[in-house]
This record gives sequence, C-alpha cells and structure tokens, in this order.
Amino acid sequence: MSANFVALAYLLASVLVILALKGLSSPASARRGNLYGMLGMGIAIVVTLQLSSVQNYVWIFVALGMGAAIGGSVARKIPMTHMPQLVAFMHSLVGLAAVLIAVSALYDPASYGISTHDGALAMASRIELFLGTFIGAITFTASLVAFAKLQGLVSGQPVVFAGQHLLNLLLGIIMIVSGIIFCVDQSWLAFLVMLGIALLLGVLLIIPIGGADMPVIVSMLNSYSGWAAAGIGFTLMNHMLIVAGALVGSSGAILSYIMCKAMNRSLFNVLLGGFGAEVGSSSNNAAQVDRPYKSGAAADAGFLLANARSVVIVPGYGLAVARAQHALKEMVESLMAKGVTVKFAIHPVAGRMPGHMNVLLAEADIPYDIVFEMDEINSEFADTDVALIIGANDVTNPAAKTDPSSPIYGMPILEVNRAQHVLVIKRSMAVGYAGLDNDLFYMDKTMMIFADAKKACEEIIQALD
Ligand code: NDP
Repeated sequence: MSANFVALAYLLASVLVILALKGLSSPASARRGNLYGMLGMGIAIVVTLQLSSVQNYVWIFVALGMGAAIGGSVARKIPMTHMPQLVAFMHSLVGLAAVLIAVSALYDPASYGISTHDGALAMASRIELFLGTFIGAITFTASLVAFAKLQGLVSGQPVVFAGQHLLNLLLGIIMIVSGIIFCVDQSWLAFLVMLGIALLLGVLLIIPIGGADMPVIVSMLNSYSGWAAAGIGFTLMNHMLIVAGALVGSSGAILSYIMCKAMNRSLFNVLLGGFGAEVGSSSNNAAQVDRPYKSGAAADAGFLLANARSVVIVPGYGLAVARAQHALKEMVESLMAKGVTVKFAIHPVAGRMPGHMNVLLAEADIPYDIVFEMDEINSEFADTDVALIIGANDVTNPAAKTDPSSPIYGMPILEVNRAQHVLVIKRSMAVGYAGLDNDLFYMDKTMMIFADAKKACEEIIQALD
C-alpha cells in the first residue's frame, strides 16, 4: 500500500472522527455521529493492518478477538447506571496502553523505527516517551481510583491529609526532573522513577475528590486518555492516532470546562487536583429526618398534573436506576393529550455521566424539541404550574444559591423552587450523590411521592386515565 494511499485513508478516517464528534453534539444526530466514528475507526484499523511494519498477524488477531469478545459481552450486559465506571475503566486501559508501548519502545527502539544510527533514541522520541508515559501513567491509576469510587469498591468520601498539595507538588517536581534526566541520558532508572511517581500521582490526585465533583474528573480523565493516545501516536509515528488522540484530548478538555462552569468550579483547581475536598465530606449533611414535609400518593400527583397548564419535568439519577424512561414517556403523552404543556429541564451534571439524561430520554423517543438545557429553561420556572422532579436531588438543591456554608454553594441549579407547585418522586428522604439534605423537600409548595420512579409513573398514568 503506497504511503500516499495510507495518508489519504487516514485523512478520511480523521474527517469521519471529526464528523462523529459533531454528530454527538446533538441528540438528534448522535446515532449518525456514532456511525461516522465506527466507520472512521474501521478504516483506520484496516489501513494500519496493511502497513509493511505490521508483520505478525497472529498476535494482533488474537488480541482483537479477545478485546471484541470481552468488550461486546460487557457492553451487552452493563446496566446504564454503571456506564460512568465502565467509561472510567476504559480510560484506564488507554493510559495503560500508552505506558506499555512506551516501555517496549524504550526496550527496543529499533523495532519501532525510532532509533538513531548508534541504537539510541532521538531527543524528540525521548521527549515523546516522557510525555506519553507520565500522562498515560497518571491516567491509568487515576481512572482506576475513579472506577473504584464510582463502583462503590472504595468509599466515595474524599481522603485528605495535611500537606497533601505540597506532597503532590514535590512529587510533580521530582517526576519532571526525572523525565528531564531521562531525556538527557536515556537512563532506565530515571524513566522508572518518573513512571513510578506518575502512577502514585494518579492515585493522589483523585483520592481527595469527593461528592458532587466526580463529573469533572470523569471528563478530565477522558481528556487525559486522549492525550495519552496522542502520545502513543507520536511513538508509533501514526498520524491517525495523533489526530484521534488530540481530538479526544481537546474535546474532553472542552467538556471539562463546560462541566466546571456547570459546577461553578475553576478548571485550574481541577488541573491541580485535590479540589472539592469539602464537598460531600460530611455525613452530618445527610437528611435531618425530623424536619416536617408533606407527602402524597401518585393519585394526588396525577390530579395536580392533570389540572396544570404547564409542567416541567426534571429527571435525575433515580430515573436511570428505576429505568423509568419508557413509563415516563407514556405519562408525558397522557398529559399532552389532556392539553398540558410539558417540557423537560436537563441539568448538565444530572445522573452519573455527561449527557446521561439526554441518552435516557432519547432511548424512550421523547421528542428533542421539548427537552431544554438548564440555561434555556431556568427563567421559565416562575411561570410553571408544576415542577415534577423524578429521581433528582442535588441538581435542584436551593442551598446552592442560598446557603454560603453549603459545599455546593455557587453551583448553578434548576430553579424548580420558583414553580407554583413542586412534586418530588423518590423512594425516601435519602440524600443524593453529594450527601446533602435538600431544603426543597421541606417547602410548603412541595409534595413528596415516595415510590420507585417507574412504579410512580405507571400509577400516575392510571390516575390520569
Ligand atoms: P442525585 O444523586 O443527587 O439524587 C438521585 C436521587 O434519586 C436520590 O436522592 C435517590 O433518592 C433517588 N433515587 C434513586 N433510585 C431511585 C428510584 N429507583 N426511584 C426513584 N428515585 C430514586 O442525582 P442528580 O441527578 O440530582 O444529581 C447528580 C449528582 O451526581 C450530582 O451531585 C453530580 O455532581 C453527581 N455526579 C454526576 C456525574 C455526571 O457526570 N453527571 C458523575 C458523577 C457524579 P432515594 O434513595 O430516596 O430514592
């Protein structure tokens, strides 16, 4: 296969990956975007397999077969609610791949075609290996800790200790100095010190993150994994991998910025790690059960909804847990048939991964034109008869606006408390991910419907009928 043909095919694959990202920016075009991405990746794999540098197909096909079998079976079985930890785990694999390729390239530079005439590595290759290795190593261990936290294997509470930032800074400096020594003399010792510290830093940067701040970390790790892949691309001198890695890295960084804005956090703090230690750290913030609140039955909610002119529905993580999206769609259709105007309000960090709620609503074929982002709909709550909160908690907590002592103070929320009536469907008074009591539940205008979200939707449909 000629070099020009390979370059052209990689260019085509890169354009398809860009079109995939563009498609994924809207629920309406997301499926098409995914197809573009799969096609681009397919072209990249086939063209790479034809390269003259690829000599042993047996191991490649064994690895491809194993990867496809494991990936296919996990993808089929994984419940939607476990998607964030799956994504975190996959990021860790990208980081590990970057590290392993760097180690093998250092071990045998000639087989990667990156050795100079005396068998050493060129300075440019050493710098690439240094960058690829430490970004990959941090991504690897940081993603594993994020996975363990999201999966509940370790406590989600932040781990903080005195001098943590100083220790991170010191380790960061030693890692960079070791990297520079490696670049100068290509020594294994400097490389291994740099690698070991990067692995440790990955853990240290994630353990202080707690509560509501995990979304920023998940998207940050997404970005890191992209840069690690780009690093591998440089080592392998593969343009497609550099382009795809850089696209993932930069789109992940943009997503992190958007998430930071949604959480009112500074990206600088995230990059340094260790931010948000105070969030969700206090179980004292758990629901203070003694406060009075009003509760009702699904039939009461049905009555209120049927007599409303306008209803705004706020879905949250509980909708995903209950897999209530299809019942919810039926309920929305019933309400619309009665002439009620129904809209959805989506908070950027609702659920457990970016876009979680949009995915659920799209799965149930809920029309996109009634689904609104937080900024678009917040001004409408004052004119809304009923705000119906289904399995959401933190994203509606008024403390974020009113209580300067609250760990989530400053985070923009869906201002459901401004609606005429508030209905909250959840199973108990339990706190959400950030571990905070929610003043909304105790307001005069709020009625709690204690039930599983799917069951409640089905009962409301019956009541509406
Ligand atoms: P929350 O975690 O704040 O609240 C979800 C609520 O759903 C819980 O209070 C729970 O109450 C209820 N619930 C659980 N299961 C059911 C069920 N079967 N039926 C009905 N209700 C149920 O979710 P939000 O979506 O409001 O906020 C997301 C939170 O997660 C934020 O703090 C965000 O920072 C964090 N996060 C977000 C990520 C992202 O990328 N989007 C990633 C990681 C964390 P009960 O037990 O009483 O039913």
